[in-house]
Amino acid sequence: MGNFFTRGLKPLAELPLDPCYAGLSDAYHTPVTPTPLPQPRLVHFNERLAVELGIDTGDQALIDILSGNRPWPAYAPVASVYAGHQFGAWVSQLGDGRALTIAEIRKPDGERVELQLKGAGKTPYSRGSDGRAVLRSSIREYLCSEAMHALGIPTTRSLSLVASPHPVQRETLETAAVVCRVAPSFVRFGQFEFFYHRGQHAQLAPLADHVIAQNFPHLVDRPDRYARWLEEVIERTACLIAQWQTVGFCHGVMNTDNFSILGLTLDYGPFGFMDAFRQHHVCNHSDYEGRYGYDSQPLIGQWNSSRLLQTMLPLLSDNQEEAADIVTDIYERYSSTYSQEALRRWADKLGLREVREGDASLISRLLTILHQSKSDFTRSFRHLSRVRTDSDAPATGVREEIADLQAFDAWVTDYRARLRSEQNTDDAARAARMNQVNPKYVLRNHLAQAAIESAMNDDDTEVAALMRLLNRPYDEQPDMERYAAAPPDELRHLEIGCSS
Ligand code: AMP
Ligand code: MG
Repeated sequence: MGNFFTRGLKPLAELPLDPCYAGLSDAYHTPVTPTPLPQPRLVHFNERLAVELGIDTGDQALIDILSGNRPWPAYAPVASVYAGHQFGAWVSQLGDGRALTIAEIRKPDGERVELQLKGAGKTPYSRGSDGRAVLRSSIREYLCSEAMHALGIPTTRSLSLVASPHPVQRETLETAAVVCRVAPSFVRFGQFEFFYHRGQHAQLAPLADHVIAQNFPHLVDRPDRYARWLEEVIERTACLIAQWQTVGFCHGVMNTDNFSILGLTLDYGPFGFMDAFRQHHVCNHSDYEGRYGYDSQPLIGQWNSSRLLQTMLPLLSDNQEEAADIVTDIYERYSSTYSQEALRRWADKLGLREVREGDASLISRLLTILHQSKSDFTRSFRHLSRVRTDSDAPATGVREEIADLQAFDAWVTDYRARLRSEQNTDDAARAARMNQVNPKYVLRNHLAQAAIESAMNDDDTEVAALMRLLNRPYDEQPDMERYAAAPPDELRHLEIGCSS
């Protein structure tokens, strides 16, 4: 501490507070104090994020505040009310059942962020549940948020992970944990749905105005700000899902209450990065109908967008027809944004400098081949950079897993021809570019599971190792090679469900 990089850092109690969200009326949230946890143990603290937030990591009060055992000075924590479409069905009242906003601070760079504790006890929205989160799911959320951030995918962040021996009953008896997560806003689609469907339309504008003022300040003075804002929200949502698709990420519970108004990946539950690629892979074992399978995610994002847009009709015009027209225009932006963004990202993964006619079919042919072969998604794309334009050597690392070699070899021939058609073709430069968009390391389920099992035995070294590894997902890390491997057979089908 005390070196150039840590100068100016402050203990939590001295960070500049800016309670804009808590300042909204009590229609949106309820004050709740966290319930203390016995014997808190700091499993991991994200020093890098702490420094970004201006936090002095030597502060002795950190663990007490981040476990919910001591209040954040001068801030009254709140839990938000919301509703949502869960697996397609309307649920009129939900809310932060185990999350609490414990502070809103200004970072040294001027950005305002909110800090939430997840798992810090019951709230008025707990609906008969215990308000707790188990260590297992907390480790998954903690690691995945930071892994996504390092991949360049918009997400809530994680600052700290505290464990406790406090027992929590799920399918088996487990123990409690609290994650402190950080985002510029935790407002969800479901918050607007709550007020719209109760007919409390007067509550929509103050919440929208808050989000716009805090997170879309360039729109504040525009007379058409609601329409422009929604356009951006819908575009961000489409772009987010294009990123999920192209990295092989399945969210698992794409309910509207888990959709961020900022287009962040939010509420990590039974998510999964695909090992073996299956177009209709369903990562959530509680999703019996496969509603949120990999290939459904783009359409679900669109459907959720339509749910959000419906709630905004009263804000857009007093004339119902006019409001409907505005919403329809915005809605249509989803599919055009998604297609464009996804195509560009797939093309980047193939090392193509620009998208040309025929590229969409080149990509879908490859995906079909990988799907039929159940090839490892991450490794296959990473190894594609080995295809050379100056030789016909086979694409090692990909070809070994392919079922239909004839189709694959024909595809590689076409791919090579496509690469050669670009100017300044340089295999080494292209491989370097591809390795910046095709990660070597992702949070595979079996890796998270190993960290969970160690931490359950009070050994937190694997959590720390994964945090370090996944901070640099695109870099070769030679002594970490085993973390890039596909799971061993016995760990291929770990069952991850909604229980958390
Ligand atoms: P999720 O599926 O995790 O997004 O949760 C759906 C809703 O149930 C949210 O409103 C959560 O806050 C709430 N919830 C989930 N687990 C618990 C729990 N253990 N205690 C209280 N509320 C919970
Ligand atoms: Mg949720």
